[in-house]
Amino acid sequence: MTALDLVPGDGLYERAFSKLLVARKGQRSQLQLLGLRLRSRMAFLRQPTGLHIFVVTLRCEHSCPYCQVSRRSTDKSRFDMSEETAMRALAVALSSPSKGVKIEFQGGEPLLNFGLIKTVVAAAREQAPTAGKQVDFVITSNLALLDDEVLTFCRDNNVHLSTSLDGPADLHNGNRPRPGGNSHELAVDGIRRIQQELGKDRVGALMTTTAASLDRVEEIVDEYLKLDLDGIFLRALSPYGFAIKTKQFAKYDTERWLAFYERGLRYILDINKRGTRFPEFYATILLKRMLTDRPIGYVDLRSPAGTGLGALVYNYDGKVFASDEGRMLAEMGDAAFELGSLEEDDYRSLIVSEKLTNIIGSSLAQCAPQCSSCAFEPHCGSDPVFHHATQADYTGIKPLSEFCARQKGILKLLINLLENSPEDAAVLRRWAAQ
Ligand code: SF4
Repeated sequence: MTALDLVPGDGLYERAFSKLLVARKGQRSQLQLLGLRLRSRMAFLRQPTGLHIFVVTLRCEHSCPYCQVSRRSTDKSRFDMSEETAMRALAVALSSPSKGVKIEFQGGEPLLNFGLIKTVVAAAREQAPTAGKQVDFVITSNLALLDDEVLTFCRDNNVHLSTSLDGPADLHNGNRPRPGGNSHELAVDGIRRIQQELGKDRVGALMTTTAASLDRVEEIVDEYLKLDLDGIFLRALSPYGFAIKTKQFAKYDTERWLAFYERGLRYILDINKRGTRFPEFYATILLKRMLTDRPIGYVDLRSPAGTGLGALVYNYDGKVFASDEGRMLAEMGDAAFELGSLEEDDYRSLIVSEKLTNIIGSSLAQCAPQCSSCAFEPHCGSDPVFHHATQADYTGIKPLSEFCARQKGILKLLINLLENSPEDAAVLRRWAAQ
């Protein structure tokens, strides 16, 4: 039957059979079931491209040293996206096959070009029914410029807001300088106002881990709890933009990051075990991969990669990139992820471009060296931008890859908790099921 000498009735055979690992000779049902599961896990491929990022300005009034964007000072209006460019970007977004289209406004600080955001939202709402699309909107903002006009607009147009919150005031303000040194105060005020006036679910926050964060994970988590946010995403720094120029990326290694992550995850699990539902979002994504066959929407952890197929980025100047990080690399002089321009290209020419085809072709973890024989592969993904930025190779040399080391560290931690700690496992399973 198989080369493993399993015999029906020996117990091991039954376990392997229930996991679809073995079948009797000629039995097709096991293979059909496996095919169904794979089709479900890869369903994200049926409807590309769901996320469309409009970089409406490069201007920003913050000067964060870890910033992944090459920001410009606020007075340089030549770094704003024009209405003509925005309308071309909207036409591309609405011609992608995905029924659900999410338009995310980024910068710089996008509220510095709020007039254009209003124009795009109005045009998208008008054109979406004809295009047969359901359109959602997100503004990614530091909230320093949040005022009554922005709030009213977001309420009337069902716009979500996403912001940065790195932890308590001294840590956040140290990471995110602005004139007046009050970035934390403005972000917290903004989060509270949005929660009160639009609803708790209309604002989310993201943190970035700097060297100054490493010993303070409990305080960071407490800050999120204090603000009644619905969970936290413990995020490492990325090797792009100002994080490289200001040498922030080199300030801690994978081992220190993993120690920070494990300490944070265990602290969060304890909070959950005491009755407060508060997930860590990266673990939740991986757990859904491990414990369910649902497709993963997260574009940075797919195979084939989500670059271009999951998200397109329209820069202020009309250039189109396969990912936000790819745009940041271009600001550093590396155009590897620049797919074309809104003046010359449409959705099809961007997606079938030779550049993107090469990137996607190199990004299949299922057949990549090391990954193809790795026990974690079904739960992992690929990140061609990270590997190109750090190793000049889209696939990546995994034994030398920090992405791989981080994935292995976190997946081992989760498997260990699932296997050996029933109370933690119960919380993790609840996160996966949500
Ligand atoms: S853990 Fe590393 S080797 Fe394994 S699939 Fe992920 S990236 Fe590939």
